[in-house]
Amino acid sequence: MSLADFPRHPLTFGPSPVHPLDRLSAHLGGARVWAKREDVSSGLAYGGNKTRKLEYIIPDALAQGADTLVSIGGIQSNHTRQVAAVAAHLGLKAVVVQENWVDWPDAVNDRVGNILLSRLMGADVRLSPAGFDIGFRDSWKEAIADVEASGGKPYAIPAGASDHRLGGLGFANWAHEVRQQEEQLGVFFDTIVVCTVTGSTHAGMVAGFADLAENFGDRPRRVLGIDASATIDKTRDQVGRIARRTAELIGVGRELREDEIQVLEGWAGERYGIPVDSTDEAIYLTGRLEGVILDPVYEGKSMAGLIDLVSSRDIPADSNVLFAHLGGQQAINAYSGRYH
Ligand SMILES: *Cc1c(COP(=O)(O)O)cnc(C)c1O
Repeated sequence: MSLADFPRHPLTFGPSPVHPLDRLSAHLGGARVWAKREDVSSGLAYGGNKTRKLEYIIPDALAQGADTLVSIGGIQSNHTRQVAAVAAHLGLKAVVVQENWVDWPDAVNDRVGNILLSRLMGADVRLSPAGFDIGFRDSWKEAIADVEASGGKPYAIPAGASDHRLGGLGFANWAHEVRQQEEQLGVFFDTIVVCTVTGSTHAGMVAGFADLAENFGDRPRRVLGIDASATIDKTRDQVGRIARRTAELIGVGRELREDEIQVLEGWAGERYGIPVDSTDEAIYLTGRLEGVILDPVYEGKSMAGLIDLVSSRDIPADSNVLFAHLGGQQAINAYSGRYH
């Protein structure tokens, strides 16, 4: 099997745009920084990285005759908002369990942003008191059982659409897309920087770029995952597992090496969902130099990592580095107490 053998249900406008961040690059004084924008590549409730993953999961849900997508995330989950949007688009129902992943005292946390959008799109939104975990949860199993009990056909999508057999394919395809865009732009991205939490975005890229190197003669690249949840051992384990599963599915033809799975820590702060000073600095810098908006949960943390790695020349000055902008701006409204 190769990636091209898997059915893909298009949920995006096409390849996500790639453009340079020249004022940020000049400010950092090292590598040239570019962005590839999952945040502006779908018309379904603002899209984001989960929409791309769902392109490969939806054909399976439709083949099974499902009528309800059941998924889970934090209260301000971008993922469940994208599941709700895709369900609406396809004429399916959505049940989304929103757990208390972040102890965030903002008065409107459970009323604005992502959760508001999911309600607007008709999802059955269920609040649950459980804390942060990327694994399988009882509340989610109960939601699935509820759908069955009422005669529906549920299709279960795990947190972040990650720990699913097909979860890595969307970003393996992203790697192939990057290669085509490089040809058009006349550039080679030797380093990719991506935020990592539930893992299949990063893992899919690792598998996709390994596929390009093994089967399409590409030069190897560094794919640097930036931890944003401060649960590093679990995250590394999950990224490694999903990357290997995806590599096998798409026929990379060799085992992935440990050094291909790089999740870097140092920018997550102490907890998922709580920004720290470096997060805020990255958000302000990117907003003020580029007019590009980053969120405090994910992209602010991965950009903080990029800023340090470029400034320290850990990413060499002659590099072209591609920042994967995965979306997430909808959560910013729940952080009005911090940014004002
Ligand atoms: C989910 C998400 C991530 C992390 O992606 P994973 O595949 O869960 O590791 C990063 N940024 C945004 C905006 C997200 O919604």
